[in-house]
Amino acid sequence: MNQNEHGKVEEEKTYICEVCKGKIPMSKKFMHDLTCEKNTYYCTKCKERLPKSLKAEHEGKMHFLKKCKLCPYKVLAYQYGDHDEICPNRLIKCPYCDVIFKVCEFTIHADYCGSKTYKCEKCLLTLTKREKEFHDSHICSTTQAYLNEYPEIGKYQE
Ligand SMILES: [Zn+2]
Ligand SMILES: [Zn+2]
Ligand SMILES: [Zn+2]
Ligand SMILES: [Zn+2]
Ligand SMILES: [Zn+2]
Repeated sequence: MNQNEHGKVEEEKTYICEVCKGKIPMSKKFMHDLTCEKNTYYCTKCKERLPKSLKAEHEGKMHFLKKCKLCPYKVLAYQYGDHDEICPNRLIKCPYCDVIFKVCEFTIHADYCGSKTYKCEKCLLTLTKREKEFHDSHICSTTQAYLNEYPEIGKYQE
């Protein structure tokens, strides 16, 4: 009679598979060796073996070049990040004239466009487009009231 003195289940021996680097129980070695190669693929670019199920994801993320539609920026997909939001060629609408510009050209335009002057139709003051918002919300009505009270001031406006 050969009885295990300790009555314990011995911990199963494992080995590291050469192909997938997985930790495999010895008892499964035979089956694993048969299927491992079939279930994995070797990425020649990473020099690594990966599960076949991850192949599409891996290739798409690591070895696929993503190109910006607006500028020549072209990098591996996983490095692309939030380029769309910082792309120098992304489009922006000028708040002064409503024309659409590339961001890289907009700064120059906005300087020029924002300092163009016009005459406010309500109070007849001359101001730049950059001042418009503040003028409309803070200045215009007071100016109008003032001009109503002292209409002769308006005559010297030109
Ligand atoms: Zn394996
Ligand atoms: Zn790879
Ligand atoms: Zn871009
Ligand atoms: Zn503009
Ligand atoms: Zn005004």
